[in-house]
Amino acid sequence: MPGFELFGDQERKQVNDVLETGVLMRYGFDGMRNGHWKAKELETAISSRMQVKHTQLVSSGTSALTIALASAGIGAGDEVIMPTFTFVASFESIIALGAVPVLVDIDDTLTLDPQKVIEAITPKTKVVMPVHMCGSMANLKALKDICSKHNLLLLEDACQAIGGSYEGKPLGSYGDLGCFSFDYVKTITCGEGGAIITNNDAYAKHADHYSDHGHDHVGKDRGAESHPFLGYNFRISELNAAVGLAQIARLDDFLSIQKKNYTALREAIEDIPGVTMRTVPEGGEENYSFLTFFMPDEETARITQQELVANEVDGCFYWFDNNWHYVKKWEHLKDLKSLGKLPEEVVNGLPDYNTQDFSQSDNWLGRTVSVLIKLSWTEEEVTNRAEKMKQVLSAVAV
Ligand SMILES: *Cc1c(COP(=O)(O)O)cnc(C)c1O
Repeated sequence: MPGFELFGDQERKQVNDVLETGVLMRYGFDGMRNGHWKAKELETAISSRMQVKHTQLVSSGTSALTIALASAGIGAGDEVIMPTFTFVASFESIIALGAVPVLVDIDDTLTLDPQKVIEAITPKTKVVMPVHMCGSMANLKALKDICSKHNLLLLEDACQAIGGSYEGKPLGSYGDLGCFSFDYVKTITCGEGGAIITNNDAYAKHADHYSDHGHDHVGKDRGAESHPFLGYNFRISELNAAVGLAQIARLDDFLSIQKKNYTALREAIEDIPGVTMRTVPEGGEENYSFLTFFMPDEETARITQQELVANEVDGCFYWFDNNWHYVKKWEHLKDLKSLGKLPEEVVNGLPDYNTQDFSQSDNWLGRTVSVLIKLSWTEEEVTNRAEKMKQVLSAVAV
């Protein structure tokens, strides 16, 4: 998945454009910047690649999620439905606004189970936030139908799945709002960065203002701009945007390398008895950043991961035991360990995640093993890896 593996001349050239003028900020300084507007250009490039009207580039994927929610008017006490398997950023962004993260089980897509989403809806629910983990997507059609019926927003966290698609639409563009991360380990990187995409004019305007202290960006004098509402600083710098501008031009090349490597590994293991592939919803195409499969049970899955690592298959994940990505280890959320006092709405509204039953999620994730697909592997490395994976899985999976 990581675009940093292929950091090179194009990235250096883009960054040098910025260094030559010294204008490191995305707004203002028109006379000094020698025509370089890297953040703006990257926004245009993302809108074009993702077939949406608007892109707002920001400082991280986490801030993108926060801003997406804020731009749609989500605030204290509103409930946001999110999956049990995701990155901690999902509930961080929700709690940052005083909203309440409502955790819902995953199914064999390893993302939100639509039936469980329906069961979790209350009068306070405002948003359904599927997270397209490890390069593949939620059952977006089912989720969209639920959202339409209950008048909820569909916010796609596509931070790990940029370049994937569903019913021909780029992931992130199917819902009301979509978010990407360009942190250092994502498919394309800015070093640090993120983006919100939407076709909704009002949300786009809100995101533009909110990410820059509420500035309305009217006129050429920042000091004279008015503030229609409160905001914050979630800006990206021109240096980070410049790296992203080089990387977005390479996205489709990265995806085709990932697909080639993924396919070679998949073909080596998919027919092994006892091994099943993670379900990709009909109409979906992954971005091929991970190869993810189920073993017959939890014990076998755990052994598989250990054996793969012992056989030098690196980049191999057993998410069930992972501190960052699964509810089982989120003690800080369950016990609401915060530095300062949290809003009453969060304290009183948070379900008791120490006792809630997530056995359906446990059953799927307990059996899941994921292998990171790298861009820099040689053909020989891919062949060796495929062979080793085949040997290990055949030995373990019976
Ligand atoms: C990386 C990631 C984020 C957060 O992105 P940052 O840019 O690191 O803040 C959010 N959600 C998911 C699923 C991610 O993988």
